[in-house]
Amino acid sequence: MTDRLPGFSTLAVHAGAQPDPTTGARATPIYQTTSFVFNDADHAASLFGLQAFGNIYTRIGNPTNAVLEERVAALEGGTAALAVASGHAAQVITLQQLLMPGDEFVAARKLYGGSINQFTHSFKSFGWNVVWADTDDVGSFEAALSPRTKAIFIESIANPGGTVTDIEAIAAIARRAGVPLIVDNTLASPYLIKPIDHGADIVVHSLTKFLGGHGNSIGGIIVDAGTFDWSKGNKYPMLSEPRPEYHGIRIQETFGNFAFAIACRVLGLRDLGPALSPFNAFLILTGIETLPLRMQKHCDNAKAVAEYLSGHKAVAAVNYAGLPGDRYNNVARKYCPRGAGAVFTFSLKGGYDAGVKLVSNLKLFSHLANVGDTRSLVIHPASTTHSQLDDAAKVKAGAGPDIVRLSIGIEDRDDLIADLEQALSA
Ligand SMILES: *Cc1c(COP(=O)(O)O)cnc(C)c1O
Repeated sequence: MTDRLPGFSTLAVHAGAQPDPTTGARATPIYQTTSFVFNDADHAASLFGLQAFGNIYTRIGNPTNAVLEERVAALEGGTAALAVASGHAAQVITLQQLLMPGDEFVAARKLYGGSINQFTHSFKSFGWNVVWADTDDVGSFEAALSPRTKAIFIESIANPGGTVTDIEAIAAIARRAGVPLIVDNTLASPYLIKPIDHGADIVVHSLTKFLGGHGNSIGGIIVDAGTFDWSKGNKYPMLSEPRPEYHGIRIQETFGNFAFAIACRVLGLRDLGPALSPFNAFLILTGIETLPLRMQKHCDNAKAVAEYLSGHKAVAAVNYAGLPGDRYNNVARKYCPRGAGAVFTFSLKGGYDAGVKLVSNLKLFSHLANVGDTRSLVIHPASTTHSQLDDAAKVKAGAGPDIVRLSIGIEDRDDLIADLEQALSA
């Protein structure tokens, strides 16, 4: 080892991992066990009382998952992370540490369709109220704030249209309001954008997408930037008040700049229970090793396909922030100079019917509800991922009836273009 600070690609391969101390295994082993033997009664008691770090039970922590947590924390520039069973679980656990019944959070309207559902319908039963704001109008975040606002939630590159968010402008509003900014960085991955560098306090991911990268495992993660003071104004009692089940310790006071990640683990994951399987953690870790290589190829292919589509006579419009002239191109150049991601939308002159026909004529592209796979994917959001919205809300979310969404994989770009060509001329 040298004193140099490792670069991103080195961290993607090595961060958090070392040869297994007992066997010498170089790849991170899958610790497929529910529980871990204590040294003695004192050791057991100190683990349960949070006086010592260590493994107890895989719902709360597991050594394979710990490598994944350290690796993603390193890639995002955070102090600590918590891996969970899905991207949605990451969102629930994050907000559960921040909101009490009757509280509010402000969220960007352009979001993953599942997040819109979760925030609008399921969270109502917890008494958490979402107030929507418009990513294209930063002032609307300010206008949506109230004394009960506990957080702001945005996506760095937003679904479904691949629009790029001005994170710094919204971080400034969050700072003035004294609430944390949560950024869903799923579509960008830390290879393209590191939200913490732009003022995010918490980063969440669906590991299911580009980080895992191979369409084989569901997972999620929460990264603590270590930047937020949870004791201010007694707004966040989960973090600042004594915890009866842990001998009255206060999480923020005890754990300082990784208190949020600890609260997510020892309160959220412990009690809500969506633990990530160590086998999935292993697959996702393997995926992350090639994240920089894959992400660059995803972006380069996406740009080539977007350029091809924007020159096609059957295409009405292409919404890809990586294209010069796109309304988000300047923001993209600032936040993600390596590429504007691999998920974008376009519309056909033939409208809804032409869109549906195109989807069924494609052969290499898979028609399914996912993004961030090595394989290229296609979907018609208005009839699937965003079907729960009314027509006006669909258009506002960037999922109007004529819109087709692509997630560009890492195949040869000429094959992708040839498949689009045959489907468009069919
Ligand atoms: C897929 C996705 C989610 C939800 O993640 P799951 O792993 O499917 O629970 C959240 N946000 C974004 C941007 C996503 O693409």
